[in-house]
Amino acid sequence: MKLIRSFSVDHTAIVPGIFVSRVDEVGGGTVTTYDIRLKKPNREPVIDVAAMHSLEHIIATYLRNDNDWKDEIIYWGPMGCLTGFYLILKGNRSPREIYGLLLGAFKSVNESQEVPGATAVSCGNYLMHNLNMAKWYASEFAAYLEENADNPAIFEYPQTERLVTGEGQNFFDS
Ligand SMILES: [Zn+2]
Repeated sequence: MKLIRSFSVDHTAIVPGIFVSRVDEVGGGTVTTYDIRLKKPNREPVIDVAAMHSLEHIIATYLRNDNDWKDEIIYWGPMGCLTGFYLILKGNRSPREIYGLLLGAFKSVNESQEVPGATAVSCGNYLMHNLNMAKWYASEFAAYLEENADNPAIFEYPQTERLVTGEGQNFFDS
């Protein structure tokens, strides 16, 4: 294994924000995977797992019902490290272009009376939810986004060297 200089990100330097994780050509179209990071990796406590699960349900429902965006949404889901979410959209927009969408999504959590789809039929672990904690994390992140709207650091990864394993494959884990 060796270190090479490439487009890469040092997780010990990531701050919360909205970042482009990768851009792919799929089936003749472009899709962009965004890193929606709520917590500093390895430097602050992660999101409570039940709250994370509720945020997954509530925001997925929001995104798939937003008339301006629902046809652009491919995927919304939690990172296993519990510090953020992945959002996959059609196209290749900059993080600033989806700032308003995400601010609206996280603000909507406070209006939720219940967690959508939290039933045994619709969810794989329907008892593992925490709406009140989900509201707390969502409000914290929405306030952070508003306070940092003009801060470039919330839209661009810190650049460093990335560990390359085997046949030039970058090690990706979030
Ligand atoms: Zn679920």
